[in-house]
Amino acid sequence: MALDIIEIGHPVLREIATEVSIDELKTDEMQQFIDDLIDTKRQANGAGIAANQVASARRIYVVEVANNPRYPYKPEYPLTVMVNPSIEFQSQERFDNFEGCLSIPNLRGVVKRCPEIKVTGLDRFAEKVEFEIKGITAGTFQHEQDHLDGVLFPDKVEDTTTLCTWSEFTERYEEGFREHVSNIVKRYGS
Ligand code: ZN
Repeated sequence: MALDIIEIGHPVLREIATEVSIDELKTDEMQQFIDDLIDTKRQANGAGIAANQVASARRIYVVEVANNPRYPYKPEYPLTVMVNPSIEFQSQERFDNFEGCLSIPNLRGVVKRCPEIKVTGLDRFAEKVEFEIKGITAGTFQHEQDHLDGVLFPDKVEDTTTLCTWSEFTERYEEGFREHVSNIVKRYGS
């Protein structure tokens, strides 16, 4: 069942989310919550969603990219649920990522993200997971990780002249950004 997504201005988006204990993670309630978070992400066509965005400040997020109309240029990425995640940057490089957020309707802007990261944490069944992510999808994970620390993408937009509405993005910037994305995908394979 999809949940309501809260929007910028709601205080839970600014909360530092709390870790989920293994006992808590294994409860039916928490498993149902994770299913609901996935449904919410899919219904809203997000590339990812963090628990803070449904007003529940727990350290959980979901990433999945498949035929996404909001981000048609993003490489596909299978459904991944992360619990108590952390991210380590694996390089000094940064790329420009034009981001949007389900909690900030109709706004996009350029955020600098690391193209090579290591993600560690638990999956939904409390198994330890560790994997590397490269390219555009690394930006999606960093965006979701920020949510767990109460950080929203506009906080990280260095050049505020890149802030734009969805329709201005489509009209003026999407074509150039698609090319930029395809260069990143060529370079990093995703
Ligand atoms: Zn977001």
